Amino acid sequence: MFETHLGEDWARRNASEWAAGIESISDEALWRSHSLLRQKLIAFLRERVSRNQNGEGDAVKEPETQRLNPDALTIGFARRVAEYKRWALPVTDPARFLQLLHDADRPVQFVFSGKAHPQDQGAKIILQRVAKWAADPLLRDRVVFLEDYDQEIARQLVQSVDVWLNVPRRPFEASGTSGEKVAINGGLNFSVLDGWWLEGYDGTNGFAIGDLSEGETNADAADAESFYSVLEKQIVPLYYDRDADGIPHRWVAMMRRSIATLVPQFNSDRMVAEYAERIYLQE
Ligand SMILES: *Cc1c(COP(=O)(O)O)cnc(C)c1O
Repeated sequence: MFETHLGEDWARRNASEWAAGIESISDEALWRSHSLLRQKLIAFLRERVSRNQNGEGDAVKEPETQRLNPDALTIGFARRVAEYKRWALPVTDPARFLQLLHDADRPVQFVFSGKAHPQDQGAKIILQRVAKWAADPLLRDRVVFLEDYDQEIARQLVQSVDVWLNVPRRPFEASGTSGEKVAINGGLNFSVLDGWWLEGYDGTNGFAIGDLSEGETNADAADAESFYSVLEKQIVPLYYDRDADGIPHRWVAMMRRSIATLVPQFNSDRMVAEYAERIYLQE
């Protein structure tokens, strides 16, 4: 899509040419290509989940057609399993979490993926817990957990989710590069103001959890409250606010803001060029 609208050398546009090019893409074109990616992701997830259940070498049984909804608000959460990443934060209040998943008109679904270091017992316990509750009959159709997070799973998720969630405990996140991968693909970030999101978030290009005034003591409870309330009051209403054409125009406007403002700053070309200029090429 960038090639079509900005030309084959789209990656070499400066920030204002880039923003103008993104502005010129219609809501319909942007939403249609993003929705197609989400639908392909759900097919990939159904296939992976049924393969995992059968074990290596078994024939893949019928795809799990009830698992996840190709048109529902899809939130991705995938990362290393480390304590400060607070894997359990979304289920701080299980009843409130279930309510979000099972809203009949505006359902929310989650994809979790992670990998624990073999020597890290604490991380393994966290993953076992996540895998167990993802299999709970109350959650099954709205939550999937993929083992062995790797580059293929990461690629599928960052290209296709509607929202990328990151809930690190401040100030431990160095960057959170996966959110940067999501931005160029049109997904919106929903994150604690730490790491790269502290620099990238401008109030119009995604969603913030908590604010910078929280002290360290109550941060877990306050961030969980903020997670639920932003999801309930901002994200879900914006996503499901559809015009007669079925397109959530205000959501698409935010996708456009996210791509236009974040991509020129947060990309590996810029990073490598800056290392070269400021460090490697110095006398
Ligand atoms: C991007 C990526 C990471 C790093 O993600 P952070 O958000 O920086 O923690 C880890 N693993 C895989 C497979 C990735 O693609």
